[in-house]
Amino acid sequence: NATLDVQAIRERFPILHQEVNGKPLVYFDNAATNQKPDTVIESLDNYYRKDNSNIHRGAHTLADRATAEYEDTRKALKDFVNANEAEEIIFTRGTTEGINLVVQTYGRMVLAQGDEVIISAMEHHSNIVPWQMLCEERGAILKVIPITDEGEIIMEEYLKLLSPKTKIVATCHASNALGTVNPVEEIIAHAHKAGAKVLIDGAQSCAHLPLDVQALDVDFFVGSAHKMYGPTGTGFLYGKRELLEAMPPFMGGGEMIKEVTFEKTTYNDIPYKFEPGTPNIGDVIAFKKAVDFINETGKETIAAHEEALLAYATEKISAIKGVTIVGQATHKVGVLSFVIDNLHHFDVGMMLDAKGVAVRTGHHCTQPLMARFGLEGTVRASFAVYNTKDEVDTLIEGVERLAKLANR
Ligand code: PMP
Repeated sequence: NATLDVQAIRERFPILHQEVNGKPLVYFDNAATNQKPDTVIESLDNYYRKDNSNIHRGAHTLADRATAEYEDTRKALKDFVNANEAEEIIFTRGTTEGINLVVQTYGRMVLAQGDEVIISAMEHHSNIVPWQMLCEERGAILKVIPITDEGEIIMEEYLKLLSPKTKIVATCHASNALGTVNPVEEIIAHAHKAGAKVLIDGAQSCAHLPLDVQALDVDFFVGSAHKMYGPTGTGFLYGKRELLEAMPPFMGGGEMIKEVTFEKTTYNDIPYKFEPGTPNIGDVIAFKKAVDFINETGKETIAAHEEALLAYATEKISAIKGVTIVGQATHKVGVLSFVIDNLHHFDVGMMLDAKGVAVRTGHHCTQPLMARFGLEGTVRASFAVYNTKDEVDTLIEGVERLAKLANR
């Protein structure tokens, strides 16, 4: 593994160089959204200064340029997840839209009364609610894989849930609230044996874990650009060609058609069938710069750096009296969730913010998971490539001070 020059990386993130409440900003809310390197910001600026134009309806130079760049991002994502073809990458607004797209098209196509969908106990609301809505509509049943106290899926329980009634299994690759990395390869293989298709929510894995949709043999995989050092408002869905081709469109409109008469419309080929209307062109183009940034820095290098920060923070914070870490899986991404005895997580967040430290507090859009642990919420610090050991020390000092105050 190449070692990371964190200071050189930090130079490329303008937002990090500011004070908050009179203290240097320590940004540990990366699981919510991470910050953007210079190349992403410059791409957005460049697009609106030089290339802004509507795509796929060319006839002039700017439109051709914007179209080529937009499609370049698709190719970059194809390589990033190792899809077989670029047409298997659909641009979305993000993970949430990707999941809803699959629910409303593939889900509606296959789910009948009495059928079952399996999710896990650690899902984000965006991988719960859309399935619940569909199951309600279809008279289908939503089943939940239980987890251990450490925050790991109980594989034997999952196997018990699988049956010929299972049509879809949907789980996260990594949990945003606990950091747990799920054994998705195993989950997918078992689902396929039962005849079910699998959607993996990659929101928390795209920027941290190696991805190979073909090796995983996953049917659908979704992610958000804004959690990959890219812009908000865009993301992607990977789907296997034969599934995407069999699925009905998600939304109707321009661009997704071959021919329209008032009697009948024929639909465009994939990926355009799923991209109606003028898309988020500028952000999609800048998304490529984010993918380039991850590739150039190196996934393994990034992962090793974040793992080291997590290991250090875990060791120090778990040693503080009155502090409990929530989620102690063997394999984790750089997410550290914790609670302090006698202190509300909101107050911890506010007091850390006063020291310039940005963490997330609350239920992290995983209310059923919080209920599993008998909690309303946690404090969550999540790490990215530009974070340093010194910053972790600032967090540790803050938590030590607060835990001491609350537990004298
Ligand atoms: N799933 C997981 C695991 C997440 O962490 C998030 C974002 N917190 C989402 C889904 C939703 O992503 P987005 O808000 O970008 O659509």
